[in-house]
Amino acid sequence: MSELSKEYNFKQVEEKWERSWDSSIYYFDWESKKPQYIIDTPPPYPTGNFHIGNALNWCYIDFAARYKRMRGYNVMFPQGWDCHGLPTEVKVEQLNHITKNQVPREEFRRLCEKLTEEAIDRFHKSMGRLGLSIDWSNEYATMKPEYYVKTQTSFVRMYQKGQIYREDHPVNWCPRCGTAIALAEVEYDSRTSTLNYMHFCAEDGEIEIATSRPELLAACVAVAVHPEDQRYQKYIGRTVKVPIFNYSVPVLADPAVDSSFGSGFVMICTFGDKQDVRWWMEHHLPLRQAIDRGGRMMPIAGPYSGLTVEETKEKITQDLTEQGIIFKQEPLEQNVGLCWRCKTPIEILSEQQWFVRIDAPEIKKMAEEIEWIPAHMRVRLENWADSMEWDWCISRQRIFATPIPAWYCKNCHEALVAEESWLPLDPNLTQPKKKCKCGSSEFIPEQDVLDTWMDSSISALAVAGWPDRTDLRMPTQLRPQGHDIIRTWAFYTILRTGALEGIRPWDAILINGMALGEDGHKMSKSLNNFIRPEEVFESNGADALRQWAAIGGSPGNDIPFQWKEITAASRFQQKLWSIFRFSLPLIAPADAAKGQVDRWLSAELDQLITKTTEAMDRFQFDEALKAIRAFAWDVLADNYIELVKARLYGQDGPEKRAAQGTLFTALETLARLMAPFTPFLSEEIYHTLTGQSVHVQSWPVARGQPMDRAGLAIKEVASTLRRYKAEKGVALNSPLPGIVVYSDLDLETADLAGVANSPVDSRTGKPLLEMKPIAVKPQMKVIGPRFRDRSQRIIMALMGMDPADIARQKEAGSIAVDLDGEILELPPEAAEVEIQTLSAGEAVDILKTKEATVLVRR
Ligand SMILES: [Zn+2]
Ligand SMILES: [Zn+2]
Repeated sequence: MSELSKEYNFKQVEEKWERSWDSSIYYFDWESKKPQYIIDTPPPYPTGNFHIGNALNWCYIDFAARYKRMRGYNVMFPQGWDCHGLPTEVKVEQLNHITKNQVPREEFRRLCEKLTEEAIDRFHKSMGRLGLSIDWSNEYATMKPEYYVKTQTSFVRMYQKGQIYREDHPVNWCPRCGTAIALAEVEYDSRTSTLNYMHFCAEDGEIEIATSRPELLAACVAVAVHPEDQRYQKYIGRTVKVPIFNYSVPVLADPAVDSSFGSGFVMICTFGDKQDVRWWMEHHLPLRQAIDRGGRMMPIAGPYSGLTVEETKEKITQDLTEQGIIFKQEPLEQNVGLCWRCKTPIEILSEQQWFVRIDAPEIKKMAEEIEWIPAHMRVRLENWADSMEWDWCISRQRIFATPIPAWYCKNCHEALVAEESWLPLDPNLTQPKKKCKCGSSEFIPEQDVLDTWMDSSISALAVAGWPDRTDLRMPTQLRPQGHDIIRTWAFYTILRTGALEGIRPWDAILINGMALGEDGHKMSKSLNNFIRPEEVFESNGADALRQWAAIGGSPGNDIPFQWKEITAASRFQQKLWSIFRFSLPLIAPADAAKGQVDRWLSAELDQLITKTTEAMDRFQFDEALKAIRAFAWDVLADNYIELVKARLYGQDGPEKRAAQGTLFTALETLARLMAPFTPFLSEEIYHTLTGQSVHVQSWPVARGQPMDRAGLAIKEVASTLRRYKAEKGVALNSPLPGIVVYSDLDLETADLAGVANSPVDSRTGKPLLEMKPIAVKPQMKVIGPRFRDRSQRIIMALMGMDPADIARQKEAGSIAVDLDGEILELPPEAAEVEIQTLSAGEAVDILKTKEATVLVRR
């Protein structure tokens, strides 16, 4: 065996194993009889680079996957790519200085695919370097026909069951992105705007109305007051005239009006906000759409037609003020809905869109069948389900997404949804294979595409073999994901799996936190707290980064990136390497009868296995790794190895072989326990020891080894002796004149003699000790204040007395001193007596441990 380097060369070791590992050992086996453990892993958006946040989450998944595999499960750790969606389109538009409508659809889609493929390549590299045990035989990309045929199939099946429908309905709309967005994609931010008070002409006189959106005047369809507002009773049921546009709208009474806001009158427009939509539906009001899909005013806005919303707001405010219609303005704090992607204020437009029906009670019921880790995260999903007022709008007016497989008849305008056997397809490139109900065979393709969550919300189904396999592997076992996408990915996945298969998607959902910068803020390039995984791969290696992920905190908490944790991880790796390097020439697998110290170590190892297994079962990776580190550092290196060094270096025989075998087992077991966390270092150690890969081994099993009290007592005696030598300023390896250990446990002496480098006797029972007073120490602080100028003489007298006599007097309550015939009574604290302990006439120091009394000859 070639000699190991003194320093652990993480770079060499990690790169070697990355090159030589055979990733097929991680493939899910569809024929296996083992219990399945399918992880519904998050498919990331492949834009930009694999970042620290990804690294944190993928480490958690890898810890779980490797652990479950070692526990005998048939594990699937698939890797998907959620390709479609706005982020990539926006990036392509920026990179090529175009907007999506300036190039043909196919060309734009091709640019998006190319950008995505480049990003996937970069992700592959980072993931390989991080040592993830991904099952590459279960890789999917939502932009590929093999995947989007599943999305389209799910669309067709839900349409046929009436769970998907098309309707003219108000939707949240981003004018910049030119697309509808789902409620879950609206972000809220508070802004200061202006509340404008204006006059509307009533049938007799004027009323005052306050609004922050005068640009929507042309979209006003009613005004409303609270039914119990005594000031305005006479107006209810009558009409008022909208200024500038001069048409009449009704005055309604509605209990949702807040009488204390503005004048107590509100303007209902189609649509200023969600409340307008509620009123519009409840009171069956007409639609006056004033803003188009690009965020410009429509002809109904008269003189403002063609202007943007912002331009209109400015111009109409000026016009209304000049005409005296606006008579007062005040600042107003408002929550404004923004597009999650580009932060443009959203508008609410009424559009023909496709919707998925939301059955909130059903989703909540299914969420209860799933184990949530941590448990309180389920409330977030329930609250969200309760807040849903509209169904899920799934059509998007974009390009890079799964096409909606539908056409519209040119003759009767009826929608024709594709049959399952025609899929996958793009309606813009293919015609339906049958005629419309009306007999016409001329169709207009659906140009809208599907919300990207329609792709990713069937990820659990897709990895479990849906829709082709007859033995669908649902539910899957685990969904790991961030808390930021509970309202979207978790919610939609439960909805869709329930709608399509009537089953819960997973047994358990594990919510992870976010990775933060070292300063505790979100990592961002502008804050200068941005770390790339590659930087850590270079400086400390992948195993160190993985240890940071494990130790940083329990899943669910946000975890700051910390260089000091990376350094600690490297230090631990070096420590383990040193232990290994020391042990390697001295150990061998052996099955000799163990001594007390060996049995103690075996019991400690057993406890470590139990503790680690429990922690891994609860996904408490930090607890597991902390226990492993404490064992390696404290139990193994500082205690066991020190105790058995003499045997390891000593003559061949059963004692030596017992130590060799025990240490071999400890190292081999440690390598297996650490394999989920540090796959590279563990492999290097395990492979060197056994010639096999640690990643096809099983998880260590505790053997129920009882704690060996004698071995534990020996370990405690050894550390007490080490402390004793340190206090005496004696070198640790320098011999002591003699040691006798008394304990009822009948302790073995060989290892103690070795570690103390001194002769050791072991006896049962208690030592017979003689306590001999040998010196007097007068206490000036007691004598001085009381006897002042006589103190010196008292001290001299005390020193001249027999220590044994003083000890007796102290016991009796006072010390009598003869000062030239004058007898003084001193309090017992006036003198201390130094006692020497004697054993069989020899002076000894006494050290106590829990189970033993140790006499050290002086
Ligand atoms: Zn936008
Ligand atoms: Zn037709």
